[in-house]
This record gives sequence, structure tokens and C-alpha cells, in this order.
Amino acid sequence: MFNYDLHIKNAEVIDGTGAPKFKADIIVDKGKIIGVFNPDNVDIRDPSENHFLSNFTAKNSVNAINMIVSPGFIDVHTHDDENVFKDPSLSSKVSQGVTTCIAGNCGISLAPFSYKGDVPDPIALLGKSEVFRFPRVKDYKKEFQSKPSSVNIALLTGHSMLRVDAMNGDFDRPANSKEIKSMIFALETALEDGSIGLSTGLAYPAAKASPTSEIIELAKVLPKFNGIFTTHMRNEGVDVVKSVQETIEITNDAKVRTVISHHKCAGRTNWGKSIDTLKLINEAKQNNFLDLDCYPYTASSTMLLKDFVKRADKVLVTWSDNYPEVSGQDLNDLAIKFGCNISDTIDKLYPAGAIYFQMGDDDLNRILKFPGSMIGSDGIPGDKHPHPRLWGTFPRVLGKYSRNMKLFSLEEAVYKMTGKSASVFGLEERGVIKVGNYADLVIFNPETVNDKASYETPKLHSDGIEYVFVNGKLVWKDDNPTDDRPGMFLSGKSFN
Ligand SMILES: [Zn+2]
Repeated sequence: MFNYDLHIKNAEVIDGTGAPKFKADIIVDKGKIIGVFNPDNVDIRDPSENHFLSNFTAKNSVNAINMIVSPGFIDVHTHDDENVFKDPSLSSKVSQGVTTCIAGNCGISLAPFSYKGDVPDPIALLGKSEVFRFPRVKDYKKEFQSKPSSVNIALLTGHSMLRVDAMNGDFDRPANSKEIKSMIFALETALEDGSIGLSTGLAYPAAKASPTSEIIELAKVLPKFNGIFTTHMRNEGVDVVKSVQETIEITNDAKVRTVISHHKCAGRTNWGKSIDTLKLINEAKQNNFLDLDCYPYTASSTMLLKDFVKRADKVLVTWSDNYPEVSGQDLNDLAIKFGCNISDTIDKLYPAGAIYFQMGDDDLNRILKFPGSMIGSDGIPGDKHPHPRLWGTFPRVLGKYSRNMKLFSLEEAVYKMTGKSASVFGLEERGVIKVGNYADLVIFNPETVNDKASYETPKLHSDGIEYVFVNGKLVWKDDNPTDDRPGMFLSGKSFN
């Protein structure tokens, strides 16, 4: 008689490959899935142990009748670099069924960074200069391993960090060849230390001045480390098509695997352009690895910047250093209250963050549905009044977009959050329910799963997420986090 850690009974399994759901029991032991079997068929052999799964007991069991068991969701687009230390329960994520966060997106990562001056936009989204305490990725990894969070984390290396370091804060120009060499060295070191790739934030002040050639030189480093290139493109509005073309040029020249971050067409005059961008991406996919991530909302969120305000229908302030009490309020109302124009109001509030209502539903639906798209929340955990995507993204895709709107099947929705994501980002033994993989699992109710976080009340737990396991340990149950912190630092595919 064998005694295993966990037995999940009577489940309908959506395994994360996109395959139709099937009935199965799951056995977990020592953090891994060791059995996936039909309980009515006692002859199924456990290939790893070579004994019958019909003859065992389990320390814990969960009756998952009428529930779906799927791989834990992989949030491929986060800014949780510091949040895993500040709030290690990561309730914003585990309450949605997320078990792995990929941090370091949009050109900004907590590591590696040695610059000691004031941090420029958008690096400040991660915190003030004192939070930047990791000159190397291996320093970050060590800290995470000594104080793990409830979720696994993988880290991209931010281009803006490399730039500000190599150019000693003088980033308002293209980098010279000496500076590019120094960035390449820093990137190679980061990848050797366990970073999974390079991210850019080309729309932002810290990286705007970098020409395409600078990005190509850096991206060329990635293939030999199996690293991925993710890009917050130069423009997501009037020049979004041009930006996709630039991304394809980088992908071709550097022969790199690429993910376009939070793909969108921002500003009313640009609605509909996703027809062209997705066509271009689809063509480029024939010869390249080119994918994208997106979140299921028509408002975006980042720093409060004048250029971004211009193209939005409506702007809500998410935080302000000078006026913390205005978080959650409409920028127009604040201008009236302050008795000044929008530009002066922004100057008064700055530094500050905002939510921008600026995307169309047709573009959003098209992008969500696109076969190359994965789900990433892009949630910003430090905001006082955050965009609801921080707490609602994954249940919203399952509830609103799959069950209610039938944009895609539940199996397809889960694939966009698990198997697809693990394979694109090179996270080994994750993202699919199969024997030998890590037991990152979520048990949810397909009838009730739904987001509740809204623009007015952005920090509400979702409905229908019943149990969440990370590396075989329970981290979410009865609408509450447990005390376990089983998260691992994931280094991506090993390289030779
Ligand atoms: Zn971004």
C-alpha cells in the first residue's frame, strides 16, 4: 500500500494542451503529478513507479465533482518583481488560479540594476531607487529562494535597466558601440544567472531613443541561451502597424523567439487596425516564432503621461505621489476641481499612474481569439487604485469570454493560459497536466467562474476558483490564501 500526498477525485480534467476535457483522478506526490487515471479502470499502471494506482492511500484528498481541474495559470505578463517580496501570499494572483508569474516585462525588471540615481519613467513603476538592490539576477534568485512567495516566478531582463546602467542615466540618445557592448555583457550574465529573456518598453522615456539596430544587437544574444524576446512596442496607436513591422524585422534579423506584449490598438482613430496587425503577425509566424499576449479589458494602465492621455476617451488616476487621495478619480473632474487645464493637472499630479479607456471591443475580441495569443494580466501591484486586470484577468477570460460570449472553448481558453504559455516561454514540466510534471493545479467551477474586480472596486476576489496548488502545496482555499509559500524560481530551458 502506497501513501501519497494528494488524491484529486472525480475531476473533469482540461490538461492544458487544448485537447477536450476528460474524466480522471489525479495523484500528486512530492510536488509532482504521479498519476492521471480513470478511476473505473484499475488496470492503468503508474509508469513512474511501476505499480498499480488502485492500491494506495493519500494524506489529503479533494472531491472535485462537477469541477474542472486544469494546470495552474501562467501569468505571462506581470510586474510582480518586487511584489513577491512585499506580499508573498500573492492573493491578487492565486485568487485567480495563477501559479506562475513572469516578471520583468515592458523593459523594466528589478534585476539586474546597479544605477544609483533617481529612477526614470517607467522604471519607477516598480518602486523608488531603494528597491533596486539586485546588481545581478543571481542576487534576486537567492533572495527569492530564501523568501519564496506562493507562486513561481520567472524573470525577464529589462532593456531599460541595461540602458540606464550602461549609459549611466544619460539615456535620451542611441547607445554608442561601447555602451551596446556593455549591455550585451550584462544581458549574457543575466541569462547565465537564470533570466529567461529580454523585454523592451520602447514607448517609454528610458528606451524611446534606442534605434531598431540597438534592439537587434541585443536580441541576437538570446538564441544561444534559448531566451525569449518580449516587446512593449514603440507605438500601440497611430503607428501600431509600423511597430509590428519593426518587431518582425527584429525577429527575422536576430532569429529570436518573440512575444508582442499586451497587443492593442489604442485610440479611437486606430480601432480596426488589429485586422492588419494580426495579418502581418500570422504571415510572419510561417517562418518565425512570433506570438503575443493580451489582457481582457478595453482600458490600459501605466504611468500618467501626456501623450497617452491625448488618445484616451476617459482617464482615471490610479496613484499620485503629490495627491494620494485622488486615486480612482477621473482626470477631467480633477482638472475642474483644481481649476486648471488637463496639462497643468497632470503636472500637479506627477509622478502618477492612470487607467486609459482607449481600445475597441472588436479589436480586443479579435486579439483574444487569435491562435497565437496568450493571456497576461499586466497588473500593476503597487497602484493604490489598480486596473481591475490585476485581480480579474484569468476568471474573466474563462467566464465572460469563453462561457458567456463563446469566443472560444474552455479548453482553448485554458490552453492560452497554460500549455501554450509554458511552451513559448520555455518553462519545462509546467503548463500541462501529465505524469512527471510539477503539480501546479487549479480546481474551478466552470458554471460560476467569473471576475468581480471592477474599475470602481478593483480589488475583489473572483468567483469560482476553489483550490489552487503550487508545486503540490495548497495555496488558495475557501476564498483565502494558505500559509504555504512553495514558489520556485524558474530559469527556463537549460542550455548547453
Ligand atoms: Zn508594457
